[in-house]
Amino acid sequence: MTNSQLLQVAEEFGSPVYVYDSEKITSQYNRLTNAFNDVKHLKINYAVKALSNISILKLFNTLGSGIDTVSIQEVNLGLAAGFKPEQIIFTPNGVSLSEIEQAAQLGVQINIDNLSILEQFGTKHPNVPVCIRINPHVMAGGNANISVGHIDSKFGISIHQIPHLLRIVENTKMTINGIHMHTGSDILDIDVFLYASEILFETANQFKNLDFIDFGSGFKVPYKTGDIETNIEELGKKLSTKFNEFCKSYGKELTLAFEPGKFLVSEAGTFLTKVNAVKQTTSTVFAQVDSGFNHLIRPMFYGSHHDIINISNPKGRERFYTVVGYICETDTFGNNRRINEINENDVLAFKNAGAYCFSMASNYNSRYRPAEVLWHNKKAHLIRKRETFDDIIKNQVEVNFSNKKEKELVK
Ligand SMILES: *Cc1c(COP(=O)(O)O)cnc(C)c1O
Repeated sequence: MTNSQLLQVAEEFGSPVYVYDSEKITSQYNRLTNAFNDVKHLKINYAVKALSNISILKLFNTLGSGIDTVSIQEVNLGLAAGFKPEQIIFTPNGVSLSEIEQAAQLGVQINIDNLSILEQFGTKHPNVPVCIRINPHVMAGGNANISVGHIDSKFGISIHQIPHLLRIVENTKMTINGIHMHTGSDILDIDVFLYASEILFETANQFKNLDFIDFGSGFKVPYKTGDIETNIEELGKKLSTKFNEFCKSYGKELTLAFEPGKFLVSEAGTFLTKVNAVKQTTSTVFAQVDSGFNHLIRPMFYGSHHDIINISNPKGRERFYTVVGYICETDTFGNNRRINEINENDVLAFKNAGAYCFSMASNYNSRYRPAEVLWHNKKAHLIRKRETFDDIIKNQVEVNFSNKKEKELVK
């Protein structure tokens, strides 16, 4: 989207506001599917938690994507968006057996990452096929070396527990139809990912009724110039070859599945804020915007970098600013950033605001969550209204302290 299109959105819908470009989402989806052209059965399941607006889900539905969900609420959101149960995979962590049973009841593919739950589920529902989440204990080291780690991660069933898992499967007579891994770390080095996939293939060989292998996600997108990006095309070539070889030896054309969030939506999103004040202190110039970590928490939560651009004055002289919010906590979006000269009421755009931004927003400081807009076919479509005071108050229950009886209770 151009600066003037973004300014037009801020003008029309007010600030702060999230804007998503459907064209970018579509091109990322196509880039991923093209990279795996050599695989006969490919399934992309968009990770709903990255950006869970129902219109975004509907867009993914039209692209032919499935969805990856982590809560029964996300499952229901997916169904409401028009996904069929068989297009949904439920990959929770630490949820109750009954939540997993609810998802299975709806006909959704379930993915279990805990031996205790697997045994209970298999005993009660031996006829429901289950996918298992494996922890291959592989992660990329800081210097891109292969290091074995995540041994104490809460995610997945350790590869060292496969014998135990196989006993549960045998005893319960349940069917394992899928095998899955999602290490959660960024794929910086493709060879590390391929190494983990080898472990997954070896494990897969121990299960005779597989329909699919799910390689999770971890595709890295650039957040600033110079950032390493996962080379999807190279990964696609290499993994496809290995996958096709595996299917041959396994004796069945399996489905290769992925469940990316960030890769599909991060770069499509821009967060627009307005500058309330420019504050010069003895050492720093602060640009104070009409937002905070209540709307975009990634910089404070993970130390993530989001490029910040002054779209109101893109040709202005560059100066150094520390961009902060209006929350009564330290809520620094960016420290000492070189930005085109900022004046009060300018609109600042935060890049890469598609993934884990709105979906992590809160009402802290009793502020409203922002509006969301989808830029589609060169037009702005409001896909979530800005909250109002009613949203802040509607579930709160007031105690009537003036009531005599209550008064006595308080005493
Ligand atoms: C969050 C999550 C994803 C998506 O991860 P990204 O880094 O956004 O691509 C995929 N699978 C599972 C199980 C997840 O929890």
